[in-house]
Amino acid sequence: MTKRPAIAALLHEGATYRQVRAVLGGGSPNVISDVRKTEAIPVPERTKYRRSVEETYALYAEPFGDGHARWAGPWAGRMPQICHPGRNGRKESALRVAFRMRHGRDAEGYVRPGCGVHQCVASGHLTDRVLRARLKNPSEVQA
Ligand SMILES: [Zn+2]
Repeated sequence: MTKRPAIAALLHEGATYRQVRAVLGGGSPNVISDVRKTEAIPVPERTKYRRSVEETYALYAEPFGDGHARWAGPWAGRMPQICHPGRNGRKESALRVAFRMRHGRDAEGYVRPGCGVHQCVASGHLTDRVLRARLKNPSEVQA
């Protein structure tokens, strides 16, 4: 089985070689380079520096199962990571970005999936300290 179509698709989206390798779980840089030449895919103008964090989340959060999502983008250790636009854009946890997109506020404390699926990044499944406290004490939930 060849990964060339998948490599081509990622390169068309503006993925770097590193991102292609991260998504596909490896792959020879020579093959990736060959796909780019064969398919005449231009080298992107550092698109990763221009993409908003919301666009990056949408690009790499892959829905699966019953509303869950897995992260196909870059990782920092075990943390899915998003780079803010700009050449020296700060890096932020994709979980925090997704939480903010969903709830319109920054998460307090750690952000974790509340659905029980390991490493789920679906924005609607993420909880912060405030939401977890509410889930523990439903009587305090405001109608
Ligand atoms: Zn989930």
